[in-house]
Amino acid sequence: MKVGFIGLGNMGGPMAANLAKAGHEVTGFDLAAPMPEGVSKADTAAAAATGADVVITMLPNGQILRAVADEILPVMSAGAVHADCSTVDVDSARAVAKQAEEAGLLAIDAPVSGGVGGAAGGTLTFMAGGSDAAFAKVSPLLDVMGQKAVHCGASGAGQAAKICNNMILGVTMIATCEAFALADKLGLDRQKMFDVVSTSSGYSWSMNAYCPAPGVGPQSPADNDYQPGFAAELMLKDLRLSQQAAASADADTPMGQLAETLYSTFVDTENGKGMDFSAMLPRFEKRGRG
Ligand code: NAD
Repeated sequence: MKVGFIGLGNMGGPMAANLAKAGHEVTGFDLAAPMPEGVSKADTAAAAATGADVVITMLPNGQILRAVADEILPVMSAGAVHADCSTVDVDSARAVAKQAEEAGLLAIDAPVSGGVGGAAGGTLTFMAGGSDAAFAKVSPLLDVMGQKAVHCGASGAGQAAKICNNMILGVTMIATCEAFALADKLGLDRQKMFDVVSTSSGYSWSMNAYCPAPGVGPQSPADNDYQPGFAAELMLKDLRLSQQAAASADADTPMGQLAETLYSTFVDTENGKGMDFSAMLPRFEKRGRG
């Protein structure tokens, strides 16, 4: 397929490279990031989108998505699909999909889970919202970039699934980090703590696949001085989206709310900006109860 790919950062770069490696003709555009191997460079977002069967966006937030959509939707070919894989608010996802459909295009929101490792390895999980026709058309591309794609419902359903998933992730990462810091103070060896919890009822993706303790468990950002990975400010963004959605749906989410507060303090006043979200462990290590 002819694919336009806009937003080639930590996630978009390796995703686009995998599409090119699988034989798709990929044209990319990014304001700053270099072109991944096999991807031709366009000078504007509109140029990357022109003539493409599918245009994929992988951008930081809903505001940027809306601005890029204004550039690309008018130049896309009739019947082409705009697939937004960014994590954005449900309202932006629905607004951009409506704009695409009014322009005679198909649209899907398809945010991802799996992080930079999943993007590089082609093992992401996609959660998609949009029509059956749009999902069918992008599925062969999602199959290259990921191991699983769940069609969750109409436009916005992918983003709804994503923020619920990431609210769980934020909460479990904090719980895992505070438990390691407590274990330290109780004199428990971190490796033993991992060996027990990763095979007991406290196990989670945060512990088993992305362990926040350096030198313990599989390779993770903790083994690289907490360089992202998944930046704390992106986790904060997702937690804010979850609380925005919870407020509009009148849902009681006290753990999600507390996780948002902790990540907000970490990013804004505790040097968490630019660190991986698992750097909550050194944060807790330094603290006492008071
Ligand atoms: P990133 O900051 O590394 O990449 C975003 C890219 O978008 C940058 O290269 C930036 O230059 C580019 N960009 C910004 N504005 C642009 C514009 N107007 N036109 C073209 N390019 C533009 O971020 P990332 O980690 O790749 O995340 C991208 C999205 O994926 C975010 O919505 C994030 O929440 C989501 N996500 C990230 C992860 C992760 O582990 N990093 C996991 C799941 C989902």
